Amino acid sequence: MKPSRSAASLVLALSLASCCLRAQFPQPDGGTLERGSLPEHWLSEGPKCMEIPEWQVHEYNPNFFILRQSPCTDYEKPFVFLFFGKDRAMLVDTGSRNGNLAPAIQTTVKNWLTRNNRTSVPLIVTHTHAHGDHIFGDKALQTLNDPALPITFVAPEIEATRKFFSIDAWPSGTGHIDLGGRVLDIVPIPGHNNVSIAFYDRNTGILLSGDSLYPGRLYVQDFPAFQASTERLIKFTEGKPIAHILGNHIEQTSTPFLDYPVGTIYQPNEHELALSRGSLLELEDTLLSMHGTPKRLALRDFSVWPQGQAFAVPNERAKSAQHMKEQKEKMWDHTTP
Ligand SMILES: [Zn+2]
Ligand SMILES: [Zn+2]
Repeated sequence: MKPSRSAASLVLALSLASCCLRAQFPQPDGGTLERGSLPEHWLSEGPKCMEIPEWQVHEYNPNFFILRQSPCTDYEKPFVFLFFGKDRAMLVDTGSRNGNLAPAIQTTVKNWLTRNNRTSVPLIVTHTHAHGDHIFGDKALQTLNDPALPITFVAPEIEATRKFFSIDAWPSGTGHIDLGGRVLDIVPIPGHNNVSIAFYDRNTGILLSGDSLYPGRLYVQDFPAFQASTERLIKFTEGKPIAHILGNHIEQTSTPFLDYPVGTIYQPNEHELALSRGSLLELEDTLLSMHGTPKRLALRDFSVWPQGQAFAVPNERAKSAQHMKEQKEKMWDHTTP
């Protein structure tokens, strides 16, 4: 029997889908992604500051590293990410105040060079966005002058970011960077910050979402932009395998719907860093439910926090200042012999 025109177009659509969409693999065998592992827990539970390095370096796999700042230098304890390709390496973010990231990056790069029988690798330094807790180490890296890792610095500004990653239109377009056998896609996602971008590593299927999606408080500066960016990121990830969505902080406990107070230094029983594409869909759902009127909402793994006077909860700032003071006193107790 001759298939009807609509049946034929359905077959064509299905065959196109099976040829090009790779969000799923035919078998649960890990597919074509480069594998890696995340730590059981991070050294953020405290309280022994003397035993926690300035930066905890975690090797996800031989060519991708996740570093986390010590809680003892700044309660923000952000993550930064280091990718290696055959031709270049790329560092995403440089940490928060008192971070002193440069020595940890030098050591990590030099270990990688030794393992790969090389003497140098060019390093690109870029950012998920421009907030102070992710750019503190910029100056130290810019002035490093280490022949083993000549640095190209991408300023956390829209024009510099757009140009460097060849983003055709801001924020509706996408860009990319090829590190040599390793291509990362760059997706502008303004809303938390006007320069926010996401990075998708095609090799591992890891999506870096910055401060726009992580297990914690998603501070929204520009609600319509944030919502539009979430929609675009969902569209971008459609048909792509997403192994993990990794953001910049953990502020959520492992207990559903419960975060740590703002300014918490030690975080026993914290939520794992990785989220899935399901969280992105859940975020979209939550934003849609607000019908254009931003409000604070707590979800299982994160919460949405519109910023500005209208959304402040009475006494919240005073309470959190008191909490931070107590935390600092505690830290002092534990670091004094
Ligand atoms: Zn931020
Ligand atoms: Zn941040």
